[in-house]
Amino acid sequence: MEKPILYLVIPCYNEEAVLPITAPMFLKKLDDLFAAGKIGVGSRILFVDDGSKDGTWHIIEELSKQDSRYCGIQQSRNRGHQNAVLAGLMEAKDRCDITISIDCDGQDDINAMDAMVDAYWEGCEIVYGVRSRRDTDTFFKRFTAQTYYKLLRAMGVETVYNHADYRLVSSRVLQEFASFREVNLFLRGMFPLVGFKSTSVYYERHERLAGKSHYPLSKMLALAFEGITSLSVKPLHIITGLGGFIAALSFLGVVWSLIVALMGNSVPGWASMTCIICFIGGVQLTCLGVIGEYIGKIYLEVKDRPRYIISQRTDDGEEKK
Ligand code: UDP
Ligand code: MG
Repeated sequence: MEKPILYLVIPCYNEEAVLPITAPMFLKKLDDLFAAGKIGVGSRILFVDDGSKDGTWHIIEELSKQDSRYCGIQQSRNRGHQNAVLAGLMEAKDRCDITISIDCDGQDDINAMDAMVDAYWEGCEIVYGVRSRRDTDTFFKRFTAQTYYKLLRAMGVETVYNHADYRLVSSRVLQEFASFREVNLFLRGMFPLVGFKSTSVYYERHERLAGKSHYPLSKMLALAFEGITSLSVKPLHIITGLGGFIAALSFLGVVWSLIVALMGNSVPGWASMTCIICFIGGVQLTCLGVIGEYIGKIYLEVKDRPRYIISQRTDDGEEKK
């Protein structure tokens, strides 16, 4: 087999603190993989600046001047991690044979790349990086993350347990993936849908080398919510079931109230009436809310707006193989 051209796809948002530390580490890894004969000439590091407001783009430009193996694209504004990764993958897909997406903060162990590329040589088209331990995460993050993976599974969304967005994807898969046109993105749940032979590689997740996380609880919850509503319609089935259950209960309620009325003692009952009204009201509003969420998704999907807009490149972007 001819040696594959590898592109590392690295999203960066306001990362001027960490990029000067991790960029040489990525380059060193690329060198090592090349020296080991696992990847071919023309392998590169593609940074995606996700509309940073600090000096991140400047650093990327400087790096690309120092070494032609560094290159970068800049998004016209901040669109979030998922869109940044997508932009990078779509940019890379015609220029290489394999991509590995990885965060730029050094949290994911770059040494897992060897095993990823080995798995590609063995015929896998997608290799998921899976965290073997989460010691560096807080108990809260660990607990919520694990509950969430279970919830996803219960909703019928196929994801790889403890896998985030550190993964190898071949350009062959990316060509197919390009026709997944949704704007509501949850990449880790979408790749299993493409199929092809895949496997997992385990690694330990470290602390961020510098700078701070851009994923506060609110963004984590938003992504979690996205994962379920973008890939599963089970919540709709659940509320249909709930509706049926409550309808059955109300039928019993009707029978009960008729009996009470016929027995002639129908005056007391204010409390039960209030409870029922409140309960049904609450359930209805919740169900409407869930339906509304899906309508909101449809609204965004039909607009079919671009999922990313590239405003600048460090090279002409034409360097096709
Ligand atoms: N990131 C991005 N756009 C954003 C937020 C984050 O491209 O709007 C990038 C960020 O630069 C990093 C990766 O996504 O490379 C993961 O973000 P972060 O490390 O802040 O999240 P955490 O690891 O804490 O979940
Ligand atoms: Mg991080």
